[in-house]
Amino acid sequence: MSGKNILIIEDEAAIREMVSFALGKAGFNLREASDAAEAEELMAEQLPDLILLDWMLPGMSGIELARRFKRDEYSRQVPIIMLTARSEEDDRVGGLEAGADDYVTKPFSPRELVARIKAVLRRAQPEGEGEMLEADGLVLDAASHRVSVEGKSLDLGPTEYRLLKHFMSHAERVFSRGQLLDAVWGRNSFVEERTVDVHILRLRKVLGLHGRDRLVQTVRGAGYRFSAQ
Ligand code: CA
Repeated sequence: MSGKNILIIEDEAAIREMVSFALGKAGFNLREASDAAEAEELMAEQLPDLILLDWMLPGMSGIELARRFKRDEYSRQVPIIMLTARSEEDDRVGGLEAGADDYVTKPFSPRELVARIKAVLRRAQPEGEGEMLEADGLVLDAASHRVSVEGKSLDLGPTEYRLLKHFMSHAERVFSRGQLLDAVWGRNSFVEERTVDVHILRLRKVLGLHGRDRLVQTVRGAGYRFSAQ
């Protein structure tokens, strides 16, 4: 984990300083941007391993910037953690929908932030095994991190990829939201169960573009199941 490059996009210097100190101590390399324009310059220079993105930025909002990064082929795979103020908490699901992988509510402790960063990085990390999973024409290649249907690549975010990989590795099994959180987000994640629903929706949407949304099934009162039947 140490040595990973993190980019923080935050207009409040005090928060940037606090984060810089905490992440430096944890062994991360941090680059700082105070607005969208600066961030895009740094992104173009070198892609970070993870982005910390403030919800409220001058000029362009964090949410709009998250959308922009996730729309762009170049930056799509970089996980994003949104930094939100408590008053904006209701909007956090909106943040997840814009493509963020997690969110941290201000004020946060350095310890919490580092734990979240590590959890998101773990999820995004390629496992490097040459595993090939297949179901109903849907192919997941763990070595290259690619998912395709009939040779056409699926455009999945890092969390949706992990979710799909977990499902495909355990086809026909029903998982509760809690079990999916443990398996995909990690045991000490701070994520709420409804976050699972947001990512399931996102996964189904992408599968739906290739006529495969039926593979991820809701099991009433129990959770979710991946099934080709
Ligand atoms: Ca701000």
